Amino acid sequence: MTQTTTVSPYRADEHGFFGEFGGAPLPPFLVEPIAEVAREYAKASADPAFQEQYQALLAKYVGRPSLLYFAENLTAKLGGAKIYLKREDLNHTGAHKINHCLGEALLAKRMGKTKVIAETGAGQHGVALATAAALVGLDCEIHMGAIDVAKQHPNVVRMELLGAKVVSVEEGGKTLKEAVDSAFGVYAANPEEYFFAIGSVVGPHPYPSMVRDFQSVVGREARAQVLEAEGKLPDYLIAAVGGGSNAMGLFDAFLEDEAVGIIGVEPAGEGLEGSRHAATMTLGTPGMLHGMHTKVLQDANGEPSAVHSIASGIDYPGVGPQHARLEQLGRATYVTASDAETLDAFQLLTRTEGIIPALESSHAVAHAVKLAPTLPADAVIIVNLSGRGDKDVDFVAERLAQQSK
Ligand SMILES: *Cc1c(COP(=O)(O)O)cnc(C)c1O
Repeated sequence: MTQTTTVSPYRADEHGFFGEFGGAPLPPFLVEPIAEVAREYAKASADPAFQEQYQALLAKYVGRPSLLYFAENLTAKLGGAKIYLKREDLNHTGAHKINHCLGEALLAKRMGKTKVIAETGAGQHGVALATAAALVGLDCEIHMGAIDVAKQHPNVVRMELLGAKVVSVEEGGKTLKEAVDSAFGVYAANPEEYFFAIGSVVGPHPYPSMVRDFQSVVGREARAQVLEAEGKLPDYLIAAVGGGSNAMGLFDAFLEDEAVGIIGVEPAGEGLEGSRHAATMTLGTPGMLHGMHTKVLQDANGEPSAVHSIASGIDYPGVGPQHARLEQLGRATYVTASDAETLDAFQLLTRTEGIIPALESSHAVAHAVKLAPTLPADAVIIVNLSGRGDKDVDFVAERLAQQSK
């Protein structure tokens, strides 16, 4: 394993290693196709024409820059630090995922591919990718476990309306893990035609760095916006962490600002004692998953654990390798929020600000609820509101009705 030093200790070396984490441990049949992606992304990211095309879509299609909104009512209610929300929920399609899906679709097009392929769990990545593919003019193929196909019917309909082919995976547990294997199988058999579009800062090099780069617009905007509004940098950044893409998107522009505290929030689900959580940074151990070396929730045989969260977009047994590195270097801290705390935060933001957050994003709000009252009134917190909660309202209403019985 060759490791070279880079300018920033927080970034990957040329082989995609964030210290011991990251890399691209892959079966032989995937090595060359993924290496091609790394070479082509390096060229594209250095090409002003590619960057211009991408920035134009962010402005004219996604609707960027997204607002940095001062949540005055929530701040007054909690007492303490001023809370700002980075409004990724206002993007076209209602979440941050469109930022990297457009980047990946443009890269696929530039590489001469005709199809993008991916797995999806709850279907949010599949919908964002199908949207980007429709816009850019690519075929789209989404692999989804048969159980998830049944559970997430509205997202299946959305993907199909957008022109995507949804493949229902009937093997094994019929969920995300099998969908990953199935999609990689199709990709490996035909890498000339397909581009594999990973949905977070996970997987083999270059994906953790590439997806982060496509999301880094979030933090660059937030940094300029908070300087404009407050005349200073924030005291804390808070973001929910599943794979970790919305979090890395917000954090990236502030990594070298050592006075800015960085906090990722993972799902404690029904509690950290049992197995009904997805707190990978908190309870995971180093291991291999999906073509990367990172922290993993795993059993004694190295098999990824079954995980749970009230928010289906963050119930992942791994985490982006850059997060594992940031924690190791002491640059970021990872905490948890339970399902119950998340549900409370969802309701609190909805009632005080008239903003319905995604249950994923509500984990970040839940931590702000704990932290803000402990800080002085001149302190500033930025919470990444990664998506809107319209997709979650039926589920939340049902949960609340059950609780009041
Ligand atoms: C998918 C999703 C997440 C989790 O993904 P990350 O890669 O950890 O950001 C968070 N929030 C929303 C709204 C999502 O759709």
